Amino acid sequence: NFGVFTLGDAMITMNPAVKGPLRFVSQFERKVGGAELNFAIGCARLGLRSKWVSRLGKDEFGRVIDHFARGEGIDMSDVHFVEGYPTSLNFKEIREDGSGKTFYYRYQSPILTMKPEDITASMFEGINLVHITGVYLAIDPQNMQIIMRVVQIAKEKGLAISFDPNIRLKLWTIEEARKAYFELFPYVDILLTGRDEIRLILGEDSEEALVSLAEKYAIDQLVVKDGANGSKLYTKGTWHEKEAFSVEAVDTVGAGDGFDAGYIYAFLNDYSCEERLVFANGVGALATTVSGDNEGLPYLEEVFPFIRQEAVIER
Ligand code: ATP
Repeated sequence: NFGVFTLGDAMITMNPAVKGPLRFVSQFERKVGGAELNFAIGCARLGLRSKWVSRLGKDEFGRVIDHFARGEGIDMSDVHFVEGYPTSLNFKEIREDGSGKTFYYRYQSPILTMKPEDITASMFEGINLVHITGVYLAIDPQNMQIIMRVVQIAKEKGLAISFDPNIRLKLWTIEEARKAYFELFPYVDILLTGRDEIRLILGEDSEEALVSLAEKYAIDQLVVKDGANGSKLYTKGTWHEKEAFSVEAVDTVGAGDGFDAGYIYAFLNDYSCEERLVFANGVGALATTVSGDNEGLPYLEEVFPFIRQEAVIER
């Protein structure tokens, strides 16, 4: 059974029970969010041993996230509660026309108390792959030092490193993001990026530009996710492409994190290039069929009948 390691912040998301300006909303549905935690949940549901490294506020909401992640079977041995740093929150507003806004209540996130020396080799026991996302890099410039420590240990141990830029222009500028990504690319074995995102990063998304990126930084597998168009993979001089599954998508947030978990599961289990894309497309598509950032991430036994497009007997 393979083990994956990821590191990042999580927050409480308050979804409004009714539409309209936030000041008139008095009831919310409390959920748990965070790109790396979503990835960790996706991996755990597929049966991988999934370790999430983080810090939580020593408060009620920190406990909510802790209980939630434990309930998903995530290895929480390197998640610690810190005093004086409240767990981050965000409130969503949904206007009558369907447009949305997010209001962050995220001052000094508890994860900013983490130091490079908190990352030790023993945390990687039983780990086969390290997954990094750009969200963690975006929340504080110092996080690059922590990621470099993670990368150094992963390389010493011969572990594969996957990276999803997960660009968030609310958290940093495109110039800052590019600088960090290009610093990390030389260490990345598997790059999992969105099509729009890679266009922002490189200024174009032509196959030539992607191939030259992969060749220049010796990125073994460059995977491009393209929503309802499916995904493609460049590896060892060849492109592979698979169309998306046809689904009624109700919420595409989290599809990318699910895809990543699916791809990593398939990679670790030695699936062929085509099989990896099919499996990951399947996980991504299933994630869009349920509302919420992680609720739709499928269990392993749900993926197989779906990708074979078999009828499931429900009653
Ligand atoms: P995000 O970070 O917002 O979750 P992303 O750009 O990383 O997004 P997408 O390309 O939106 O990821 O989606 C990831 C994968 O999920 C796609 O490559 C595809 O396989 C699947 N997927 C997403 N949206 C759909 C859809 N509408 N129908 C079918 N499959 C989809």
